[in-house]
Amino acid sequence: MSELKILLDEDEMPRSWYNIQSDLPAKLPPPLNPRTQEPATLDDMLALFSSSLVKQEVSTSRYIDIPDEVFEAYLRVGRPTPLYRAKRLEDYLKTPARIYYKREDVSFAGSHKPNTAIAQAYYNKIDGSEGLVTETGAGQWGTALALGCSMFDLSCKVFMVRVSYDQKPGRKTLMRLYGAEVIPSPSNLTESGRQALAKSPDHPGSLGLAISEAAETSLASAQTKYSLGSVLEHVLLHQTIIGEETVAQLKKAEENPDIMIGCVGGGSNFSGFAYPLLGEHIRNGNGTQFIGVEPTSCPTLTKGEYKYDLGDVAGFAPMIKMYTLGHDFVPSPIHAGGLRYHGDAQSLSLLKNLGYVDAVSYKQLATFEAGALFTQTEGICPAPESSHAIKAAIDEAIKCKQTGEAKVIVFNLSGHGLLDLAGYEKFLDNELNGNGNSS
Ligand SMILES: *Cc1c(COP(=O)(O)O)cnc(C)c1O
Repeated sequence: MSELKILLDEDEMPRSWYNIQSDLPAKLPPPLNPRTQEPATLDDMLALFSSSLVKQEVSTSRYIDIPDEVFEAYLRVGRPTPLYRAKRLEDYLKTPARIYYKREDVSFAGSHKPNTAIAQAYYNKIDGSEGLVTETGAGQWGTALALGCSMFDLSCKVFMVRVSYDQKPGRKTLMRLYGAEVIPSPSNLTESGRQALAKSPDHPGSLGLAISEAAETSLASAQTKYSLGSVLEHVLLHQTIIGEETVAQLKKAEENPDIMIGCVGGGSNFSGFAYPLLGEHIRNGNGTQFIGVEPTSCPTLTKGEYKYDLGDVAGFAPMIKMYTLGHDFVPSPIHAGGLRYHGDAQSLSLLKNLGYVDAVSYKQLATFEAGALFTQTEGICPAPESSHAIKAAIDEAIKCKQTGEAKVIVFNLSGHGLLDLAGYEKFLDNELNGNGNSS
């Protein structure tokens, strides 16, 4: 086998997801009902999410079988995904380190998000839901859920932040092609939307408002459930297919990773990529270092406080204990829109707090420089979110050059940047805000 591209056959794809809750060194603090501040009840959760997903949210089984229908859908969207060696990047950096990246950019939707969108659509279908409703900012999550719903014959309604709806017509078109209804938020379909429009008819929208509209819509109908693309434990669980494949691929390559790196928005791609090995590290101590990477303009893990906070602005979702910048924190409109969430997943926050996960942050310009270098050396234009992981991998490889260590550095390429070219255009024209304080 070529050492540049490590592939798995379809029958080598893992048949179950790995659940970190089985190996956590401490119990997760329970989610709270935002109104009562008491631990959320099953009914609180079932009002929003289908029962199979609520079960997974609190499961402590180490492995959960991937249903055949989901397994087949994974094959259809490009799984198992390749693991590549970044040989040309290594040569450019003149580093003794060996750098590998897991290619989650290869799915049609352009990111890792279909791994959970497909699973969520499947479980909603078997639990009797007729449709799913969600929010989307730039459109990555909305696109993935529209794809998932189209595969399992569910209706899909996406509240898309008004500015993105106007600025990113490509994503909107993709969602509609998959059969989703895309509604600019704020809309006059919900009380939350009508209130916002009454105050300002030209409201540009926000993720917080779109979440309120989506949750309000699902709560109004028993057949329509709400769906989240990150942060929750069942979302992280579905994403562990990434890490399990990576473990199998590294074994094939006869490599032991020294450092695993991923970008962190709500934490789903990083956790999905890292948890299978991190769980083993908790059990046996495998010596691997795990690094989550975030923007300096939304520094949840590096600068946030570890405490209970609301998951959304309107307070529909359960409160969870996490690293948070405050639920009313409004990050600057950086191009890595997927990294602008104010908090992080519970298990990831706990593991960071206990010292199992390290975190670093980078300014916008440094990540675009890394993304451009990656495009020129490896030939793949990364999503601005993924460029955060690339920047950290490059920095670790440069450290190896200084110390002479031949470390094995593996990062998750969470998505491609072909629908983010406006950001790259600004970068090339020297018009990008270096800190990420404006777009
Ligand atoms: C949504 C997204 C992210 C951030 O979300 P996580 O839940 O932290 O993974 C990162 N990369 C890409 C390409 C995304 O679409």
